[in-house]
Amino acid sequence: MTNGKVEEAGWNLDNSYSRLPKKMYSQQNPTPVNSPGLIKLNESLAESLGLNVQELKSEESLAVFAGNRIPEGATPLAQAYAGHQFGHFNMLGDGRAVLLGEQLNSEHERIDIQLKGSGRTPYSRGGDGRAALGPMLREYIISEAMHGLGIPTTRSLAVVTTGESILRETKLPGAILTRTAASHIRVGTFQFAAQWGTEEELRELADYTIDRHYSDLPSEENRYLSFLKAVVNRQALLISKWQLVGFIHGVMNTDNMTISGETIDYGPCAFMDTYDPATVFSSIDVQGRYAYGNQPNIAGWNLARFAETLLPLLHDDIEEAVKIAQDVISGFLDLYDSYWLNGMRSKLGIYNEEAEDLALVENLLNIMEKYRADYTNTFRALTFDNTDEIALADKEEFKKWYDQWKERQGRQKESKTESVELMKRSNPAVIPRNHRVEEALEAAVEKDDYQVMDQLLEALSNPYAHSPHQSKYCSVPANPDGTYRTYCGT
Ligand code: AMP
Ligand code: MG
Repeated sequence: MTNGKVEEAGWNLDNSYSRLPKKMYSQQNPTPVNSPGLIKLNESLAESLGLNVQELKSEESLAVFAGNRIPEGATPLAQAYAGHQFGHFNMLGDGRAVLLGEQLNSEHERIDIQLKGSGRTPYSRGGDGRAALGPMLREYIISEAMHGLGIPTTRSLAVVTTGESILRETKLPGAILTRTAASHIRVGTFQFAAQWGTEEELRELADYTIDRHYSDLPSEENRYLSFLKAVVNRQALLISKWQLVGFIHGVMNTDNMTISGETIDYGPCAFMDTYDPATVFSSIDVQGRYAYGNQPNIAGWNLARFAETLLPLLHDDIEEAVKIAQDVISGFLDLYDSYWLNGMRSKLGIYNEEAEDLALVENLLNIMEKYRADYTNTFRALTFDNTDEIALADKEEFKKWYDQWKERQGRQKESKTESVELMKRSNPAVIPRNHRVEEALEAAVEKDDYQVMDQLLEALSNPYAHSPHQSKYCSVPANPDGTYRTYCGT
């Protein structure tokens, strides 16, 4: 640890969110902690933010990540939001996070810098405002894996320990994650404004959000209708990307869905090993509301809640407004399906479109489900044409499907090599498999050994490389998925 000046770390912060109506947030400083320690620093992310990696390793910067020191330009605040949690509407807000502000990078982009686990806020309800080391490292791993997979996501800049323990079922080491995001504006932020703000305040939030994330909206039609369509479009694309890699968010409450189209809130999320649309890992999701196969429908439901918040802005006549909103929302699943099917074509090395492609994909998925095939490794085996390595190889249905697929690949102008290239770009070799994530967390939290995690992160940073040293991350555990359980808000 070196001494350094926080000004030299390259912070270039503003907090435009603090200029929104006061009821949208509460000014809130992080609660200082005893004896912080830097555990993890995301150097490539830091560089892309215009930060100085060496200075970020100094005592002064550690104090920033710990919430013990407020860098210049920051206006720490906790955001207010509401949300439907498992279908039930609640007032929420940042209960254990503060937004320091937005870092302005050299491309003049604004990137939220948020401390998660930084102490109580007016929205903490009964919670302690703190986070445990294990779950913050888990968020670091999975969010960086999503980034590596090319999926829009919040990211993890740093993890620090607080030197304090927090009480869950047992005593656990406390930690703070510095999270970056295009913004932390959620469907639930609009729900809050629609429920407790005036129409003017709602409009201010919408204008702010459009300016920040959708400044290139077409000008010919109602601006807020264009906004709604654009958000629906980004979410359709995002959810298709989740489905294509087998990512299960686990708690798709409306407060955990961003307006920017980034994945947010890595609580009970996990990747599916065996292909099964009913897969659920979250310990509290007993009904399977957020099961893998339900995610597109739930996204549509959440977007309907978003559209409801915009009704006063869509038309003066409420019935007209409802009609306009319904029109957009009813198109969501078709939009999602088309993104997903295009993604599936790529996973199968197909460049052009044929009407029967959906049936071809569905047949494969049905066979995979029937024989409990590993999702990622099946597509990997198809990519390298070594299907004899997978359990499906000797099944008659699969052999028949395989021949149809090869015929289908023949009906395009692209060569076999081009097909393989497309498949390599579309089928990851490495995903953060549950047993690997647990192994990394156990070494880190129990043994203070960060090598396992660093090696995993290295493999996850380039999941489409298909390099030989990644092969150890491709193997499936003896009892895939079986009893794996994940937890919320830990
Ligand atoms: P999540 O399940 O992470 O989306 O959190 C749901 C809500 O609970 C959000 O308003 C969080 O800020 C809040 N929350 C989660 N954990 C804590 C905690 N330890 N202390 C205070 N609030 C919390
Ligand atoms: Mg949340």
